Amino acid sequence: MRTDIGSMYEQEIAEDLTALGEPPYRTAQVYRWVQSGVKSFDEMTNISKKLREKLVQNYQLFSATIEKKLVSAYDDTRKYLLSFPDGEAVESVLMKYHHGYTSCISTQVGCKMGCTFCATGQSGFARQLTASEMLSQLRTEQEDANIRISNIVLMGMGEPLDNYDNVIRFLHLVSHDKGMNIGMRHISLSTCGVVPKIYELADLKLQLTLSVSLHAPNDQIRSRTMPINRRYGMQELLKACRYYIAQTGRRISFEYAMIDGVNDSPANAAELSRQLKGMLCHINLIPVNRVGGTGYHKSKQDRIRQFIAVLEKAGLTATVRRTLGSDINASCGQLRRAHQKEERT
Ligand code: SAH
Ligand code: SF4
Repeated sequence: MRTDIGSMYEQEIAEDLTALGEPPYRTAQVYRWVQSGVKSFDEMTNISKKLREKLVQNYQLFSATIEKKLVSAYDDTRKYLLSFPDGEAVESVLMKYHHGYTSCISTQVGCKMGCTFCATGQSGFARQLTASEMLSQLRTEQEDANIRISNIVLMGMGEPLDNYDNVIRFLHLVSHDKGMNIGMRHISLSTCGVVPKIYELADLKLQLTLSVSLHAPNDQIRSRTMPINRRYGMQELLKACRYYIAQTGRRISFEYAMIDGVNDSPANAAELSRQLKGMLCHINLIPVNRVGGTGYHKSKQDRIRQFIAVLEKAGLTATVRRTLGSDINASCGQLRRAHQKEERT
């Protein structure tokens, strides 16, 4: 089988090309071409035909195909369903903010974690994405919208820390100065709380923002909506978060989906305050997006205001996340789910 060259580090390409008898200066050229997103080796115009032939024999270049695209009439948010050569598809969302474009990409096809409020969690797990497949989501969006992406959030389909090695590889490649050159400070990784991997990530001391999907003030509520909590409880998770802050010096962002009658009472807010007191963190409240069949509803506005007031009184900072693309159901997992249903009927 030919190797996925788009997922290889420069050093790995160097080792391979040396073994193929190529001089070292070729490596940087080939690496730059690959990371610029060429779709065929023939596009590498300053590489000899002989070497291009060798590359074709040994390596493969992957790109994504746009299966569906929804553009919001309100704010130009674009939601894509992108497929790969094996037919699997993931969602990515491109959002425009005042400081530039942010892309929300997927890290797995589906997810194993089974959170009860999440469309991706409800549709099961198909396979891991490679680093080059994560990169290709960004390139496809850039090409389609004719823009440059400046920020990335790993908040699409999948649990990034359940695909740890490929995600770390992606982070190094996307931030590399001969590649897309998007710095770690412009990247957020969101996790449901795979505790051992939070420790591993902390030890790498990358300057990325860690978002932790908390969604509950205690184990009882959290275990009901997020099965991962039965494996790694909240105290264990918060301990790992404190370690992450100590190692990296970076503030953690806690995601909290406000679900009517489930986790949104003033008492829930008070309990959450006690759990997070003194931590270098910010809380992002997200009125839960309705996913068919889950029976969950968004919290009422005044409930959210009350919740924030309790947190602020305890010295914590909380904001309600601005919703972009509300007319196109921009939260991830829903487009693929609809697509799967269409295919079945
Ligand atoms: N697996 C990772 C990242 C992908 S999910 C994680 O769980 O963190 C991205 C974010 O969307 C998470 O915070 C997740 O909890 C949240 N989310 C999932 N379904 C949602 C819904 N129906 N409404 C609001 N937020 C949701
Ligand atoms: Fe997976 Fe995140 Fe959805 Fe949970 S919320 S099922 S971890 S994608």
